[in-house]
Amino acid sequence: MITIKTFVFNDIRVNTYLLYDETKECIIIDAGCYTESEKNELSEFINQEDLKLIRQYATHCHIDHIIGNGFIHDTFNIDLEIHQEAEIFLKHADSYAEMLGFRIDKIINPVNYLNEGDIIKFGNSKLKVIYTPGHAGGSICFYSKEQKFIITGDVLFQGSIGRTDLPTGNFQLLINNIKTKLLTLDEDTIVYPGHGPATRIGFEKKNNPFL
Ligand SMILES: [Zn+2]
Repeated sequence: MITIKTFVFNDIRVNTYLLYDETKECIIIDAGCYTESEKNELSEFINQEDLKLIRQYATHCHIDHIIGNGFIHDTFNIDLEIHQEAEIFLKHADSYAEMLGFRIDKIINPVNYLNEGDIIKFGNSKLKVIYTPGHAGGSICFYSKEQKFIITGDVLFQGSIGRTDLPTGNFQLLINNIKTKLLTLDEDTIVYPGHGPATRIGFEKKNNPFL
């Protein structure tokens, strides 16, 4: 049984998700921890719960979602895994960081690429990778069919969708991916977005003005 712990980190208020199960094996998605107190909060939770952090992923590589990767790498000795098309953002992370007022001390390169349909395993649990570009190149979601939840990054929010005016953004592609890959999931599937509160697929189908 997967437990999801949500942290809200950095000035852009990104949702950082820790997922773990009864084995205490744990993964982190979108490590946005930036300040010392945010890094401490994350480390303390992992220690208190006696978790073993084994892998780190990013839904996409906008700076607010990856700013903590270097810290996770150095503290827990874990490399980064992303979709290959997201790598371009790591190459330009310095300039994105500067634009948004972040100071980035370390960019880490991915060691493994994730693709549509890949299965991620930790403890007794698994998640499926769903490829959903449109907000940013290489955007992926992490889906649990068993527990009916999906971590969407900036693809789908409560009442909104990701912006498409940044490099590699594509509005029509985003809408198509949401409609064909997310809204086709069971209506009671919980959506954990990159920013803001969790929602459900059925709620967004009925109420999201973009869809
Ligand atoms: Zn983004």
